[in-house]
Amino acid sequence: MNKKQRWVLFVGAAVILLMLLFPPFHFRTSDFVQNRGYGCLFDPSEENSTVNTGLLLVQWIGVLLICVILWFALRDRKYIVNYCSQCNARLQPTDKFCTECGSTTELKPDGENKPKIAKKNKEKRRGR
Ligand SMILES: [Zn+2]
Repeated sequence: MNKKQRWVLFVGAAVILLMLLFPPFHFRTSDFVQNRGYGCLFDPSEENSTVNTGLLLVQWIGVLLICVILWFALRDRKYIVNYCSQCNARLQPTDKFCTECGSTTELKPDGENKPKIAKKNKEKRRGR
């Protein structure tokens, strides 16, 4: 989990808590339902109304969905982006050769490929 993801969790939890403290109220009789808008959960003037739990639940689900989407959007990238040392073309982590100029990719110490493989390919290319 990175900093941004932690921030999403924190804000999501805060929003859900605020929604619980200020839920939508409705006034319900056997004949009709009247929406009373949002009010503080502990507001004594709302004592004739009940919390519209259905609406509150839908709102919670909406917030949760947004948080989940943001969570995945803010994930750390699995691969380090490599660039060709010869022509600066952007390379895929699995590329052994540069797709632009054909030179062997310069590998970072924590890259996906092992330098051994790259060396082998260089010798192969020379022999062509
Ligand atoms: Zn290149």
